[in-house]
Amino acid sequence: MRLVVVGGVAAGMSAAARARRLDESAEIIVLEKGPYVSFANCGLPYYVGGEIKDSSKLLVQTPESLRAALNLDVRVNHEVIAMDGEAQTVTVRGPGGEETIEYDALVLAPGAEAIRPPIPGLDSPRVMTLRSVEDALKMREVVASSAGRAVVLGAGFIGLEAAEELRSQGLEVSVVELAPHVLPPLEPELATLIRAELERLGIRVLDSTGATEIRHSAESDIVVLSNGSEIEADLVVLSAGVRPATGPFEAAGLECSRGAILIDTHGRTSVPKVWAGGDAVAIRTESGQAPRPVPLAGPANRAGRLIADSIFSGENAREIPLPVGTAVVRVGELTAALTGWNRQTLDLERRAYETINLHPFQHASYYPGATPMHLVVHFDPITGELLGAQGVGLEGVERRIDVFATAMKGGLRIADLIDLDLAYAPPYGTAKDAVNMAGMVGENVMEGMTSLWHAEELVDEMKEALILDVRSPEEYRSGHIPGALNVPHTEVRSSLEEIRTEAGGRPVRVHCASGFRSYLSELMLRADGLDVRNLTGGMTTLKQVIAAGQLPGIELVEGESRS
Ligand SMILES: Cc1cc2nc3c(=O)[nH]c(=O)nc-3n(C[C@H](O)[C@H](O)[C@H](O)COP(=O)(O)OP(=O)(O)OC[C@H]3O[C@@H](n4cnc5c(N)ncnc54)[C@H](O)[C@@H]3O)c2cc1C
Repeated sequence: MRLVVVGGVAAGMSAAARARRLDESAEIIVLEKGPYVSFANCGLPYYVGGEIKDSSKLLVQTPESLRAALNLDVRVNHEVIAMDGEAQTVTVRGPGGEETIEYDALVLAPGAEAIRPPIPGLDSPRVMTLRSVEDALKMREVVASSAGRAVVLGAGFIGLEAAEELRSQGLEVSVVELAPHVLPPLEPELATLIRAELERLGIRVLDSTGATEIRHSAESDIVVLSNGSEIEADLVVLSAGVRPATGPFEAAGLECSRGAILIDTHGRTSVPKVWAGGDAVAIRTESGQAPRPVPLAGPANRAGRLIADSIFSGENAREIPLPVGTAVVRVGELTAALTGWNRQTLDLERRAYETINLHPFQHASYYPGATPMHLVVHFDPITGELLGAQGVGLEGVERRIDVFATAMKGGLRIADLIDLDLAYAPPYGTAKDAVNMAGMVGENVMEGMTSLWHAEELVDEMKEALILDVRSPEEYRSGHIPGALNVPHTEVRSSLEEIRTEAGGRPVRVHCASGFRSYLSELMLRADGLDVRNLTGGMTTLKQVIAAGQLPGIELVEGESRS
């Protein structure tokens, strides 16, 4: 049995190593076009910024260590340039020229490459990507020697990691993002917190902005932007997304979708004896959901292992699950984490969903250092299926998002979150953890105990409804929705007549700072026969939505309470 693996990092090396564990006698050849295998792509930004000091730490294995430990025949600087599925061969270009290698089983794990948008001047030597060890070595050298100003094109995960690391080295950094906000997969109300943190770090953020040209000169490059302005740069980091690096394999006739090799849940491609995994693939679904690559390290590593299982155990192997896209990134002092679908993908897939916003503390409020986590949770309002969760905060966010990801994998429904028995002591959490709270709110929604309105609906609600602010007069004075009636939640029960009169037959849309006091008020008002809804996430979410530019023309008013 000769197994040939193309691509010697996450998915490829996981497949090769597992294959050896499953079959001591197999001949296993790994072909890697770059000079390194098994390197830590995810660590590259931290090497550029000097957090990882020694580049050798990025090299998890070498061809020699892999030969010694696993008897793998690892050939670096060997690029596969063609494949013949009929003849079961690949053509490889290496230091000694071209050769053809036969296989009994082939694993394709070529990963992804940086998208190069058609921007004139992108071939300037000052434009760099951050995809390989060589890229990182070069970038760190440039930073140490000459660069004072950097422009990062693309504010995705890698772009923001690069921006922060460059800033930490004292560079003037501008981030340019075509989408309306940084970290495009994040919901806008959370992304606005990340933007503020970038600005606090001294990073200039230009969203809804594209680069239209890069003008190169001996002294510096000029990045010309779609808004007509220009930024001078000594270094331009191109991180405008990735696409599958599948050229030779698509040309060989493998079925692909937008460049991604289509695989089934055992990693099998459309060509017999050929498996594929990692950033280069998309899994076919029976649900009709559009197959799309999820370029993340965890799914790639785990899929590599399952592909080896499929090769050696056939149908008995465990299936590769559809990745839900659980991701986390540090931006300054904040952490942003997400799992599952966001509003945009839910809308694209035409899924019915309800969204709740929560701002619970990461640990007991009385224990020093309590800070809020800002959570957004999507679920199916009929079945309670968990569809996605995101969070931003100073502490504890990634732990909660991991719990949501686990719950989703386990098929738990929103109300099941109430019963999760999560570790608690005051420095770590609360007796009713944030995840439990999300379950309680979700169950209340499903059972009709609460009926929600969302900050994005404010303009319509202001036209149709009485906005009732049940915060304290001090909170109201510090900034309230224009025209809102202020009745502190402790006075709602005794003010029902006044509220009914003010409403004058209109529905009542109630809110407080985060949604809890207004929930209590909602119950009182509904018991009194009023048509009432509670603003999910309260004023805290509303302010985030305003900051995200989703309510143009709406400004909060400071000043006296009407009550
Ligand atoms: C800077 C950076 C930071 C990242 N941070 C994170 C993170 O924090 N968390 C996270 O989940 N993910 C992160 N990722 C993404 C993660 O690294 C990838 O999802 C993962 O490595 C994909 O694994 P893969 O095996 O598909 O591809 P890769 O690990 O990219 O490996 C593909 C290999 O195939 C080789 N290759 C390509 N074509 C050929 C060919 N024709 N012949 C031979 N060899 C070929 C390439 O040279 C490459 O070495 C990061 C990526 C980068 C670049």
